[in-house]
Amino acid sequence: MYLPDFNFHQPDTVQKALDLLEENPDAALMAGGTDLLVEMKKGLRLHGNIVSLAKIPEMKLITQDEKNLYIGACSTHSEVIASSLVGEIAPALVEATTKIGSEQVRNTGTIGGNICTAASCCDTAPILLAMHAFVEIANAGNKRMLPLSEFFTFNKKTILGKGDLVIRFIIPKPESGTGACYEKFGLREAGSISVVSVAVSVKISDGIISDACIVIGAVAPTPKISEQATNMLKGKNVQELAEGMPLLEEVGDAAVRDSIPIGDIRGGAQYRRDVLKVMTKRAIVRAIGNTEIGN
Ligand SMILES: Cc1cc2nc3c(=O)[nH]c(=O)nc-3n(C[C@H](O)[C@H](O)[C@H](O)COP(=O)(O)OP(=O)(O)OC[C@H]3O[C@@H](n4cnc5c(N)ncnc54)[C@H](O)[C@@H]3O)c2cc1C
Repeated sequence: MYLPDFNFHQPDTVQKALDLLEENPDAALMAGGTDLLVEMKKGLRLHGNIVSLAKIPEMKLITQDEKNLYIGACSTHSEVIASSLVGEIAPALVEATTKIGSEQVRNTGTIGGNICTAASCCDTAPILLAMHAFVEIANAGNKRMLPLSEFFTFNKKTILGKGDLVIRFIIPKPESGTGACYEKFGLREAGSISVVSVAVSVKISDGIISDACIVIGAVAPTPKISEQATNMLKGKNVQELAEGMPLLEEVGDAAVRDSIPIGDIRGGAQYRRDVLKVMTKRAIVRAIGNTEIGN
């Protein structure tokens, strides 16, 4: 199927992009187009105007200050992977991003597009959620910042309203003693969509888990913080969470209780639950093992 005709706009500032959105009520934003153009080709979306974000330098910046890492929404996955800043501050985000699609998709698709598509199986959301990331949103009237945990409302639905544009992601720098990791299970080693994914971050102080976040992906309408599993982890001695320990089993079961998986061509609901338990246990053990990296 061919793409329908549309006007293509390529602004070079955020303000010009916002103006174009206001002037063209049927406009869609496009970053890499790896989701949008596929949906338009399938006839699922129709837009007479496309506003490309690819030529806005501000939206490709990856920077830091004392407290945070900032990643422009239009940074491609390959740019995120290649960034020494991201590698140093958020190695688990690099790990997650490396698992997206193929090299062609990573060279074109962006972190902002991945989050704004809001597929429950998307690979960057779980680790960004586990790292307590924020999202900065602009529209014609103002700029606002909110926790990413408030961004997703349902599968492929977000809080973004008409005229809203995601500018960048803000990731608080992990404190000393923090480790994180991302586990993805797909039907192939490469180029496959997540059937189940789990991101975990833990902070260890004197052998105790003083902070934690467990996020489950592709097993609910949105990537989701598993409150039950997360709460079970906090305050526990890391030795209780070694491979084979009963507590690890219990936390895996808690993550499963928080899931609402569907069955589809990639796996049945019970299969997803079973895999989720295994991935959760594995991710916790790895995140604890990664605590040296962030130090
Ligand atoms: C072959 C193939 C394999 C894939 N494999 C994976 C995979 O393994 N894992 C995975 O997670 N995804 C995968 N994807 C999906 C897709 O590539 C990613 O979600 C990608 O990150 C989307 O980014 P994009 O820049 O191309 O988004 P676009 O297609 O440009 O945009 C996606 C949506 O987000 C909106 N949008 C984009 N940027 C902004 C912004 N800054 N502010 C507001 N709205 C915005 C657009 O309007 C559109 O609705 C795959 C896609 C393909 C085609």
